[in-house]
Amino acid sequence: MRPETSPDYLNNRFAKEVEEQFNISGDIFCQAIENADGVPYQLIFGTGIGEGYFLNVGYGIKQLFGLTPGEFTEKLFQQMIEVIIPLNEDIPHDPVESREKIISGEIQKYKAEILVTTPGGEKKWIRDSSIPVIDDKTGKATGLLGIFFDISEHKQTLLQLEKAMERATESDRLKTSFLNNLSHEIRTPLNAIVGFSTLLGEPGQVPGSRMEFMDIITHSSDHLLEIVDDVVEISKIEAKIVRLIKKEVNLNQMLQRVYDRFKPAADEKNILFRYDAPMKEKEIIITTDGYKLFQSLTNLLSNAIKFTFEGKVEFGYSIKEDKIEFYVSDTGIGIGMEHQPNILKPFYQAESSSTKRYEGTGLGLSIAKAYIELLGGKIWFNSEPGEGSVFCFNIPDTRQMNG
Ligand code: ADP
Repeated sequence: MRPETSPDYLNNRFAKEVEEQFNISGDIFCQAIENADGVPYQLIFGTGIGEGYFLNVGYGIKQLFGLTPGEFTEKLFQQMIEVIIPLNEDIPHDPVESREKIISGEIQKYKAEILVTTPGGEKKWIRDSSIPVIDDKTGKATGLLGIFFDISEHKQTLLQLEKAMERATESDRLKTSFLNNLSHEIRTPLNAIVGFSTLLGEPGQVPGSRMEFMDIITHSSDHLLEIVDDVVEISKIEAKIVRLIKKEVNLNQMLQRVYDRFKPAADEKNILFRYDAPMKEKEIIITTDGYKLFQSLTNLLSNAIKFTFEGKVEFGYSIKEDKIEFYVSDTGIGIGMEHQPNILKPFYQAESSSTKRYEGTGLGLSIAKAYIELLGGKIWFNSEPGEGSVFCFNIPDTRQMNG
């Protein structure tokens, strides 16, 4: 028998070929993984977590963590980890426990999403999928063979989707409660109109009460019209079809008009009511959309008076750099901290419909906010429950001084 045909020789050659082929296919395998944007790795366990070392780490690690395969150590990797979310139920959250289970062979597939901060300070979400490498003699795992995938974009999209869902649900909920509230708000003045019109038609009314009924009917009709106007306006705002109509506006005259409008309501509630304008005696002419400015002030003041039962309501303006800053302050009920982040959103009201004590549709502030932003300004507020609120907004200073 020729030596090269002996069974030992053949066996050795076969083993060598398999090994060579394995190396080649191992390489090709790694390339295939990297081609799929994964980073292959081999981890040899040390005596504890962070004491092992990585082998055969794919070059994609540079793009993933900003590290070369040589720089990527288990210690560094452990330091980078912020959150681990195991994807299989049998994987414990605690990394030490999970390593123990891998070594003992209890976990045969490891899958987790991991949030890391790379040494360059970047936050990344990765998916770590690996299988234990088992020592035939002991039956215990000596390391892991795995792949890292960058799932940051996917996570970002998921997060945006969740936020969009939350917003949609919240806006749905607000609109439903708005519709319930609206029907209540409309019914009240409508009932008054119908009821008192019927009474007017009945014979035997004394002239004094006829006047009183007429007043109630006029007031209720105005209120109804305001509600309808607000609903139409917010739908125009949401459809982004509201346009500015800029003209010259006499600011101090406007403030006087606003004051005259709310004075009777303030007197009725025994609230001190005043306004403050610099250079009251002068004509201050600005170029702006007077209707929207008037309406914004009106909406803030109508709330201030509605939610105040003693003390005072004040409003006014001052010039601050290149802006005119307005304020409306009250010593009313204030706004609970939990409601403050939402109060400027359309349809939002601090009171739930079941406990509602105050009139309103939840549109006034959002209309004011939209108008003020269209005018080129912004709105903000400070409020202390039980103490009162101050709403401020600014618009560009487009003054021309006369006299
Ligand atoms: P509404 O028609 O309900 O007044 P708004 O949009 O004007 O609608 O206001 C939304 C909510 O903000 C009100 O329902 C109220 O809970 C709260 N709010 C607004 N202004 C004040 C204020 N000055 N004091 C206390 N709460 C206020």
